[in-house]
Amino acid sequence: MTNFTRPTIIRRARVIDKILAVKYGPKSLVRRSEPTSELICTILSQNTNDINRDKAFAGLRRRFPSWRDVAGARPNEIAKAIKVGGLSKIKSARIKNILSQIAEKSSDLTLSFLESMPDNEIWDYLISFKGVGPKTASCVLLFSLGRHAMPVDTHVHRVGRRLGLIPEKLNPEKAHHWFLQLNLPLNIYQLHINMIWHGRQLCRPRNPKCPPCPLKKMCLYYRQNPPQEKGREIKRLVI
Ligand code: SF4
Repeated sequence: MTNFTRPTIIRRARVIDKILAVKYGPKSLVRRSEPTSELICTILSQNTNDINRDKAFAGLRRRFPSWRDVAGARPNEIAKAIKVGGLSKIKSARIKNILSQIAEKSSDLTLSFLESMPDNEIWDYLISFKGVGPKTASCVLLFSLGRHAMPVDTHVHRVGRRLGLIPEKLNPEKAHHWFLQLNLPLNIYQLHINMIWHGRQLCRPRNPKCPPCPLKKMCLYYRQNPPQEKGREIKRLVI
C-alpha cells in the first residue's frame, strides 16, 4: 500500500499525466450535457452497454421532450420508453424519484444551481439520490460540471494502484471519494481518459506490457515484478 503524501501524489500525478499525454495525446473536456441529462444518462447506463444506454436515452427524450414531461409521466410509460436499456422498472422508478427530489430545489429541473456549489456539497447532494453511487456522482461532477472528480472504472483503478495514485487496498467505490479529496490540480479529464487508454493498451490486468511502458521507472508494480532480463534497469523509484 502506498503511503505517499498528498504533495507526492500530486507530483507523481503531474508526471504521469504529462507522460501519458505524450503517448496518447492531449485531451480537452467539452462538457457533454447539462447535469440532469448526465445524471439520467448514467442511471440508464447501469447494467447495460453504451449502445443500449444511448438508445434508451434517445427513446426517453423522443417520448418525453422535457424533464417536466418525464416527471409527470407514469412509471410504466417511462419504463416502456427506456426498455431497450434493461431493468426498466427499477430505472424508471429511480428516474421519477430523482426528478421529484430535484423539483424540490429547482422548478425547471435543470440542476443549474449545482454550478455555484463546492465539489463536496455537490457530491453529498448527488449521492443522496437512491440509485446514485460514487461513480455516477463523479461522472456528473467531471463530465457535466468540469469539476475535479475522477470516475474510477476498472482501468483507472488498476493503473492508479500500480502507479501509486490510489492506495493498494482501496476499492473502486472508495477511490472516487479519495480522488475528490485529493483535488488534483491538473487536467483530470485528460488523466482519466489517458489512464483508460493505458489500461487498454499496455497496463492490462494480466501480463501488462511493461518493457515498452514509458511509466515503468515510477511504477510500483514494475518495481515489485520486474521482468528477469530487465531487473537491473530500475535502481530506484522516480517520483
Ligand atoms: S510498468 Fe507495467 S504495470 Fe506499470 S504502468 Fe506500465 S504497463 Fe502498467
